[in-house]
Amino acid sequence: MPDLAPYAARLERSRGRQRPEPPPNGRSEYQRDRDRIIHSTAFRRLEYKTQVFVNHEGDLFRTRLTHSLEVAQIGRSVARSMLLDEDLTEAIALAHDLGHTPFGHTGQDALNACMKPFGGFEHNLQSLRVVDVLEQRYGAFDGLNLTFETREGILKHCSVKTARSLGAVGQRFIRKRRPSLEAQIANLADEIAYNNHDVDDGLRSGLLALDQLSQVRIFARHMGAALKAFPHLTGRRLVHETVRRMIDTLVTDLIRQSTRNIHTHKPKTIEDVREAPPLVGFSEQIRGEQQELKQFLRANLYQHFRVARMSAKARRIVNDLFHTFLADPHLLPPEFQVRAAQDRPRAIADYIAGMTDRYAILEHRRLFAIEES
Ligand code: MG
Repeated sequence: MPDLAPYAARLERSRGRQRPEPPPNGRSEYQRDRDRIIHSTAFRRLEYKTQVFVNHEGDLFRTRLTHSLEVAQIGRSVARSMLLDEDLTEAIALAHDLGHTPFGHTGQDALNACMKPFGGFEHNLQSLRVVDVLEQRYGAFDGLNLTFETREGILKHCSVKTARSLGAVGQRFIRKRRPSLEAQIANLADEIAYNNHDVDDGLRSGLLALDQLSQVRIFARHMGAALKAFPHLTGRRLVHETVRRMIDTLVTDLIRQSTRNIHTHKPKTIEDVREAPPLVGFSEQIRGEQQELKQFLRANLYQHFRVARMSAKARRIVNDLFHTFLADPHLLPPEFQVRAAQDRPRAIADYIAGMTDRYAILEHRRLFAIEES
């Protein structure tokens, strides 16, 4: 394996774990982080959490789990070709959505609204809370005791007020610093993954049509290229040949532009990276095209009436669950009753955020259906 770039998250410069542990055998510290994430309960639950489509709507749509795997795949490719630590990028990518509520962004917004008087709810912060506190698997500590660099990458954004309560990992939001390049890559790999798989799932579901998407520059350009290579291609194969070209263009552009930015700013170590402006990014043209695609998806997919109907149901479920438990914490499972004795709203938020789509629906039925289900 070629040596990593001097400005990579090199292990000898790691800020380590909150609880020191003996070094792992036969794997690096970041590989150990990745392994701990994969073995966590929260990671397995991603399989049954919504990306855009609720889990039971179809077997072929992305879930949070397959989304996270796609983010990891894209992130690793980019990190490897830039001589950065791909295991760290992978660990961050696999963990980035661990704190997501059931029912995607609707679930997060509904829970945030419920939690408004009690400090709010933010899925990104919750991902950190999952790996720092909520996973209970080890004898010596709560959480997964991950390295600083993985935790820094998981916490993508956070208010200054919240940052003050987070110790070392919150510092960069107060001092306006950046995380490692590996973390910056995981963040943009997330964007590449969801824009492209939402196009794919949108078409597969029939909520989006090909001729609608041909109005979006980046899609039209790559569908043109696919048709040039295969003039008679139609249907799913045409979609796939278009989407794979888009992903390739975005990944290539990201590597090229980020390498250029590194040449301009000449960071020597990860500390220089943290002080510099964001160095991982797209070219201006691609950024504009990505923006256009995002706006298209928002207007035509995320706000589609069929998605909106599901979202309305999801909002009602989260609301009902939260307020029912808040009024009567004795309805919570025993372990959450113990936690609710300390901080009732936060314990309820943790309980709801940990639910899969179908568990939330089932729990709602258990609490509200008069006939036993
Ligand atoms: Mg994501």
